Amino acid sequence: MTLPRSTPPSWDNTQEYPSAASSLLTADLDHANNLRLKVAELAEHLAPYVPRAETFTEEERRTAVDKAQEATLHYEQAGILLQNVLTFLSCELSVDARQAAAKTLYGKTQTLQADLDRAFNPIELLLKLTDERFVAAYLQHPQIKPRTFQVQKNRELRDQTLPLGEEDLLIGLGVNGPLSWGNLYDSLAGSISCKLDLPEGARQVGLAEAASLSQDPRESVRETAHRAIGNAWRNHEESASAILNSLAGWRLEEYQRRSYKRPVHFLAAPLHQNRISRATLDAMMTAVREHVDLGRRVLRQQARILGKPKLAPWDLFAPCPASAKGSWQPPSFADAIKLIADAYSEIHPDMGDFVRMMDANRWIEATVGPNKRPGAYCTQFVKSRTPRVYMTYSGGMRELKTLAHELGHAFHSWVMRDMPLPATHYPMTLAETASIFGETVVNNVLLKHAQTDADRLQFTWAQAREVESFILNIPARYQFEKTFYERRQESTLTPSDLRHLMTESWQAWYGDALSEMDSMFWATKLHFSISELSFYNFPYTFGYLFSLGVYAQRERLAERFYPAYVALLRDTGTMTAEDVASKHLGADLTQPDFWRQSLAIAGDSVAQFEAAARQS
Ligand SMILES: [Zn+2]
Repeated sequence: MTLPRSTPPSWDNTQEYPSAASSLLTADLDHANNLRLKVAELAEHLAPYVPRAETFTEEERRTAVDKAQEATLHYEQAGILLQNVLTFLSCELSVDARQAAAKTLYGKTQTLQADLDRAFNPIELLLKLTDERFVAAYLQHPQIKPRTFQVQKNRELRDQTLPLGEEDLLIGLGVNGPLSWGNLYDSLAGSISCKLDLPEGARQVGLAEAASLSQDPRESVRETAHRAIGNAWRNHEESASAILNSLAGWRLEEYQRRSYKRPVHFLAAPLHQNRISRATLDAMMTAVREHVDLGRRVLRQQARILGKPKLAPWDLFAPCPASAKGSWQPPSFADAIKLIADAYSEIHPDMGDFVRMMDANRWIEATVGPNKRPGAYCTQFVKSRTPRVYMTYSGGMRELKTLAHELGHAFHSWVMRDMPLPATHYPMTLAETASIFGETVVNNVLLKHAQTDADRLQFTWAQAREVESFILNIPARYQFEKTFYERRQESTLTPSDLRHLMTESWQAWYGDALSEMDSMFWATKLHFSISELSFYNFPYTFGYLFSLGVYAQRERLAERFYPAYVALLRDTGTMTAEDVASKHLGADLTQPDFWRQSLAIAGDSVAQFEAAARQS
């Protein structure tokens, strides 16, 4: 059956597995489980070596290296199989979450993955604690060599590693500790409802539906939704604050335990995960702080356009009023692909070809369906090394940008497809390089071809909104979380403390550009209650500014840009962010100058927005 060209396509994942019930999938799981048992057996032999990893005899060293290599190869292979199954199942469930069998299987596979990681833990620890000679011998194996960066990076944590039994205990207790707190947040967010007094009548809705009204063109609707969400959480603020206090308390206690050689700061883990140094984070924040007025200018201009003295927190996602007046029509899916492919082609024809290939291979899921999960993401099948993009394309500026964004992620994984898997794991700071780059490319093409002043205003409005988000909102979140951790070291914070702290943090960044601050943001924003990681904020601003910095090289490098861009992306899995920047951009991330250059580009977006506003 051929679909009309305007219908968004569904993806085709049958090359991986015919279905969730397929024997091929079960075979992969069985195979992975057998490999896991082998890893566990080898690890059991190695576990007694861990406490005296630095005092091996020659004989022990040889045996231990052999066993560690063998376990690693099994571990990697099992990981590929499990990841492939997990990707497949989560793709299935994204399209229709009601598939009970797939859901059960997904849970089972996740457990298997956790068991596998746990089985490999003694080897990870051994590699962290042992001497350089051991590591050198271990990494000599050609198939293990690609793990070099990862292993060396982990070894930086060696003087905060606890004895094997304690590390194991932390993982075990964590299931009913941080993981449960995170789950509690999710189930609260999924079950709390709020009453909305809308012009069309009162309605009781879930938080997700209420949040979707933050983009409503009517201010009264946005304000009603915003207040309703805040009040709904206000009724649960004791629980919400218990979640935040417990997550932070657990982490601080853990950092304390790990501080037996030198103090472990609460930013150390997020910095390590993001492969940047404190100096880089501070330099970035210093530069952003200097440019706080860029974000405030956006808000002042938006307030003028919306016809009010000041913007309110519920206006931050308001659509541009000009979008109703402009000539620009949201493209059909096929036209969106064409538009993005043409825009990508301006960087290099290969990039445009890539976009068309993603569409032709049916690697994009974009249908509109009642049972689809909200949101968008890019994932990849690690067996075939092929990317997939998931979203709902209902047509509109936001969806177009989302598609360009996710295709950027897909391009990133595509250019790494020939590299060994362990060399392709990039941190969140660098993960957004290609995606935001893709968005920027499309933004600029849209702007270049804008037909009317109203169109120009609509396009620049969207770009200016990003400036607000990355230069005010994310830094406010970072400031809140940082201050929260500092104060949490002394005592727990009450809901009232948290409201005050959030108000202060917003005040510090938004200044007088907002009519009021969002005091309940600590509860309404999921990011503060993620169990697996803290400080899920600064990497966003990093990704945005880093990507702009990369984009800025286009003019300077001209036809040398594309190969340099691909080379940069390919190094994101095996270098720190500082090294990637220094090698490919000749930039020093620990100095505010690099960030100032990117902020100047953000400043251009704000100026374009102001100019468009003057003309319309
Ligand atoms: Zn992204």
